[in-house]
Amino acid sequence: MAKISRSILGTLMFLSLTGCTNFSQPVSVNPNVSVQKEEPAIVVPEAVKQKLAEPGNAQRNDIRKFPYPYEAMLSIASDIDDTTVEEFKQYHRFLNTKETTPYGQGVGLDISDSMFMYMGNDQQVKVDKEGHGMNFVMTYFDGLNPNQIHNAAQIDYFFKAGWIDSLHGYGDFSRKNTHDISFNRSLVEKAWQALNQSGIHPKVLINHGDEANVGNFGGYSPNRVTKYQEGDVPKSPYYNADLTLKNGIHYIWNSIAESEFGHDSPIFEIKLRDGQKVWGFHRYTHELKGSQYNWNWSPRDLHLQLTNQHLDELIKKHQYSILAQHFGGYNLGFPLGEEDIKSLRELASYQEQGKILVARTSRLLDYSAAQQFVDYTVAHEEGKMWINIKSIKDPIFGVEEPSIEQVRGLTFYTDDPENTILLLNLTPIPSSEVQRNKADSSGKKSISIRWFAADYTDYTKNAP
Ligand SMILES: [Zn+2]
Repeated sequence: MAKISRSILGTLMFLSLTGCTNFSQPVSVNPNVSVQKEEPAIVVPEAVKQKLAEPGNAQRNDIRKFPYPYEAMLSIASDIDDTTVEEFKQYHRFLNTKETTPYGQGVGLDISDSMFMYMGNDQQVKVDKEGHGMNFVMTYFDGLNPNQIHNAAQIDYFFKAGWIDSLHGYGDFSRKNTHDISFNRSLVEKAWQALNQSGIHPKVLINHGDEANVGNFGGYSPNRVTKYQEGDVPKSPYYNADLTLKNGIHYIWNSIAESEFGHDSPIFEIKLRDGQKVWGFHRYTHELKGSQYNWNWSPRDLHLQLTNQHLDELIKKHQYSILAQHFGGYNLGFPLGEEDIKSLRELASYQEQGKILVARTSRLLDYSAAQQFVDYTVAHEEGKMWINIKSIKDPIFGVEEPSIEQVRGLTFYTDDPENTILLLNLTPIPSSEVQRNKADSSGKKSISIRWFAADYTDYTKNAP
């Protein structure tokens, strides 16, 4: 019988107590030189620009909720607890690539992971099949020493490959004695110095662990176990919410478990005790049986999360789901059982059929914010519909002129996709990035900015 390692069990038990684009302008072509067929230049007429400058001419119901043709979106957000580099490589090769593996062909899904900066956990735990201890867990720094790197090279590589997109707290600070705190603010300062220097810019923070993880924030309540959270209290030595938001975190999981599988919006506003606001996001962690929590966020329970009933309901309700997981929390080798593998293949088939788009957590969250807060205008001129995306008006983080990466997937309804032109700040989006769609189940045709291309690269091959 496979066992989840003890530190995760501790966490589970603890939680159970708590309730402008680079559009190349066509150049004059030398007629003597044979070139590939250029797309005709789209010139935006002045009359169109004027119309697009008029505010208030766009209707929110012009925007489809999900990228065409999908009816729902889902992410699997895995916590890096007790995960070694070798375990990480093994299960991501299966999750993200289509390579032949000992467990069958990889499922090729966009599933990203989280990272620890530090290891401050003093528990004696076997974290892998080989019996290694906590010092084998993948962390950026060695223990609590910001002057000594541990797996910085691997974390840097996999972050840039897209297999890591979130911080799991700033590390594992769970303790045998939860009053014996190993966390402090200076660790966060040093963490961001290193991340910024490396060009690692996560937007997602998943607060981790037991009551000794006092730097957590966003879920504080005086009447709940979350009263230990001090990360947003300016006078606390554990205060870090200022550094966290200043360095680019937009979305946090506040450590409050949820049994709801789907949500209309994955994000909700959290007001912190230092006066700042941040987006919280929902994560499905358990089922409720009466008042009892049935945790199903371990890999051998993945099939209990990815049930057909859950997936079909998500589609029916047009919702988002983010599942919590602990893919590397096992210490008996490859984490998934046959049923779990089957459920992942089923999920992949839902995606192939255009029902559920599986996306890494940061992409799902950014998409949702873009879809909800995009500011755009529409003009009808010269027999064409012109749609100009101006900005993302994020009510918490302010107005931003998006890059094409930030608006991928946005889908606008139009009667005549062939005669609709998508602009990003008045610059035509290249046709290679535009997708014209047939009518969906609502009977309406649409036009989209293409979603991220699938990436099945086996990044383990050249990993450091
Ligand atoms: Zn954790």
